[in-house]
Amino acid sequence: MSLAETPVESLSAEAAAAELERLARELAEHDQRYFQDDAPLISDGDYDALKHRNLAIEARFPELVRPDSPSRRVGAAVSEAFAAVPHGVPMLSLDNAFSAGDVEDFVRRVKRFLALDATPIRLTAEPKIDGLSASLTYVSGRLVRAATRGDGRVGEDVTANILTIADIPKTLLGDDIPDRIEIRGEVYIAHADFAAMNSAAEAAGERTYANPRNAAAGSLRQIDARVTASRPLRFFAYAWGETSAPLGATQTEALERLASFGFSTNPLSKTVTDVEGLLGAYQDLEARRSDLDYDIDGVVYKIDRLDWQERLGAVGRTPRWAIAHKFPAEQARTRLLGIDIQVGRTGALTPVAKLQPVTVGGVVVRNATLHNADEIARKDICVGDMVIVQRAGDVIPQIVGAVASERPASAEPYAFPTICPCELQTAVTQEMTGAGVLTVVRRCTGELACPYQKIEHLKHFVSRRAFDIEGLGEKQLAGFFQDDWISEPADIFRLAIKDAQSLKKLKDREGAGETSVKNLFAAIESRRTISLARFIFGLGIRHVGETTAQTLARGYGSAHAFLTAMDQVAAGDPTAIEDLDALDQIGTAVVEACKAFFGESHTRDLVQRLFDELTVLEAEAPRADTAVAGKTVVFTGALERLTRDEAKAQAERLGAKVASSVSKKTDIVVAGPGAGSKLKTAAELGVRILSEDEWIALIG
Ligand SMILES: [Zn+2]
Repeated sequence: MSLAETPVESLSAEAAAAELERLARELAEHDQRYFQDDAPLISDGDYDALKHRNLAIEARFPELVRPDSPSRRVGAAVSEAFAAVPHGVPMLSLDNAFSAGDVEDFVRRVKRFLALDATPIRLTAEPKIDGLSASLTYVSGRLVRAATRGDGRVGEDVTANILTIADIPKTLLGDDIPDRIEIRGEVYIAHADFAAMNSAAEAAGERTYANPRNAAAGSLRQIDARVTASRPLRFFAYAWGETSAPLGATQTEALERLASFGFSTNPLSKTVTDVEGLLGAYQDLEARRSDLDYDIDGVVYKIDRLDWQERLGAVGRTPRWAIAHKFPAEQARTRLLGIDIQVGRTGALTPVAKLQPVTVGGVVVRNATLHNADEIARKDICVGDMVIVQRAGDVIPQIVGAVASERPASAEPYAFPTICPCELQTAVTQEMTGAGVLTVVRRCTGELACPYQKIEHLKHFVSRRAFDIEGLGEKQLAGFFQDDWISEPADIFRLAIKDAQSLKKLKDREGAGETSVKNLFAAIESRRTISLARFIFGLGIRHVGETTAQTLARGYGSAHAFLTAMDQVAAGDPTAIEDLDALDQIGTAVVEACKAFFGESHTRDLVQRLFDELTVLEAEAPRADTAVAGKTVVFTGALERLTRDEAKAQAERLGAKVASSVSKKTDIVVAGPGAGSKLKTAAELGVRILSEDEWIALIG
């Protein structure tokens, strides 16, 4: 069983930490793909499962909750392409109901909260439009600002884009309009418009969208509002945020007011008085779902009386007075024709099912995600199988499983490739977390030599903390990469020669002036001499961050010594491996990563070509003449005069080694307020314990 499948209750603390790290990374990646690139890779159901697993692990190991925990984030980080707009009243996210029982519970909770056991309560049932939420602020009846939902607290300013949507009034109608009001609703694209838009894009060789929701999100979040204007966006209003005057006494009245202002409101919304009414509305909408010209993924129930909504309030980011009753996923059966492997920009291999085209929930499906090798094995899927395909109101369809009784006699279990489909034909390895635990991800070991991964490696190479080349940012780099001027780090240092030999000079190619080309060459030249730590960090070896690169630089002293040792590590030399492992904070994951990186001949050659272009400075030998030289120090608790990073950097400058856990090898523990188990361990082991002031006095 892989770590990702280990039940939460059987995880050790170490494995839990590794899982939390993986989940934080994976969820951040999915968030990025979903919210910023509008191109999700997994279904909402799978995404939720990852989130739940993260929460369950955090509940069991509260001390392991990470600062970048996905549970601390709701929705998307705001893209830097748009100005940030804080929402006056947060845009909440609804709780979900999946069964009639969940709906009964919801109504019971509301009644209990309001102490209304016998009194009937009116509720609204509104179709849940599968689009993109937006917030529109009107002052004196005029639309002044529009924002996306973002993370619920801060959205993105998309005013120029929203102004292009025909059924959003620029000026509110009527004469009794609140001075200031924020209207909320859903931006969406109708099915017919979506189909026309995608076929036009396909004909023009442009990118197509997976579904109407992604198309709506992608269209609204265009940098150029003229592009948005060309897209068939529509809007349903269903809620409001801040308002200077109430819209009515009930949700129903408020919706009528929104319509009177000139908004489209959904004609299928209705008011009911009990659970049966809610479930009836749900069944009715579910039956009509496939005939609607827009996607809905459930029904939203709200308490009709607004004073009751106010009394019910919210728990965290979730209102108590509303719930979303989700439709079950739509499924269909079809034949699995083959499995393609896609290589991502970080070298991850993703299997994609090629299907006999089949209609699922009104959409023709040809591909479905199979996630990873373990998933294929777990679902026991063979090429040629009859499989069940599911679309959960969203994103890329997935395969639920195979129909065992319809397996062709010739079907064989799928063998996940052990060689990357990239031209290098390099080996595929199972990815390991920083804690040295295997994950479900399979990766090409070609790293910066693999054509799929090169660009990410190059971006890392020129980034601020690595080679930091002025005038060679991501954008310029992408251009050079596209035109084959730069395909590996060494090429950067040959750019001037290439330019001298080229018929098409850089300044013509870039449309840049003579001076800026000269400046670029000067900036590159100035980085030809580089510190060992930056050289190592710039290579982008897995699990080798800035700190680890510094450790390696200090440990080996020179690039020559480092590369020689790495060649020995790659060759499996036990002494070299032991030496590497013995460096402070270097564990199995780094050792394995170095082995794979330097053991890959294409990568090793490429590093050599880079090295031949450079003068790599020797690492500064740690100081031996200070009170803490050679000592191992652990900082714990809060520091008041220094930040943790400062304290660490200072200690290292003075020749000390900074460790994160207390052991017999620890010489000094610097304990601030709030120090816990580490302080206790130090006392038990008889390790010298200093306050922050005592520490500062010691180092002078
Ligand atoms: Zn590859």
